[in-house]
Amino acid sequence: MIRPPATAASTLIRLQMALLLAAAALASACASRTTEVRFDEQVVHTLRLSYNNAHLLIRGNHAVLIDAGLERDAPALDAAIRGAGVDPAKLRAIIITHGHADHAGGAGWFKRRYKTQIIAGAGDKALLATGHNDKLCPTDSQARGRLAEDQNATYTPLAADKWIAKTVNLADVAGIPGQIIPLAGHTAGSLVVVAGEAAFVGDLFRGEIVGFGPTTHFYMCDLADNRRDIEALLTGAAARARTYFVGHFGPVTRDAVAGWVTSWRQPQ
Ligand SMILES: [Zn+2]
Repeated sequence: MIRPPATAASTLIRLQMALLLAAAALASACASRTTEVRFDEQVVHTLRLSYNNAHLLIRGNHAVLIDAGLERDAPALDAAIRGAGVDPAKLRAIIITHGHADHAGGAGWFKRRYKTQIIAGAGDKALLATGHNDKLCPTDSQARGRLAEDQNATYTPLAADKWIAKTVNLADVAGIPGQIIPLAGHTAGSLVVVAGEAAFVGDLFRGEIVGFGPTTHFYMCDLADNRRDIEALLTGAAARARTYFVGHFGPVTRDAVAGWVTSWRQPQ
């Protein structure tokens, strides 16, 4: 069989894929790296797991974990929390931004070990009860390459102690001023947590693999709805947030998110 000659376009695509894989390998090599962002009265540790993040929000004597990674990464996450100076047994809560395995999967491990209070969106009750991802809609070639693995990811089924169906005060459940806000889209029960100048957005969008800008998450079924949600968050509930903490890569500055939103409105 005669192979057709590679076109410039196909060579470029192969080069881009090679660069992406190299960047992903670099990110993986930095898997244990923790990024710390300090605000006036609180600190946020981004705990980098297999290819996703969990976030530790600390203010005074209170600490809350936002997302808990894959179930198999729970012991590494436990060690990372201790490394940030927090006893995992003293966490006020784990807030699950949504029921996908790479965000919710590790929460049950902490609940079984420490009786940690679990908080999740009411719309993801069925997702947590099955411990299986719902339908994923890939948005790029990298996600299409990972789809089989991610679609089949599972975790031990889990029930939250508190289900969020409307905005609640973070202080009431974790002792830290802020809000837990339902924002259906990526999943039916997706949550956003806003605490002063920090916003935790789960998979509403992600950070770029190379660089520090925001970009569309790997999986999103309704992109127009997703953009409306991001715009509404930026000018509404997270208007004071200076830093957006995302489920993958990041964190991302407010200016970068605002610039990204502006670029959608410009004629292509
Ligand atoms: Zn997700």
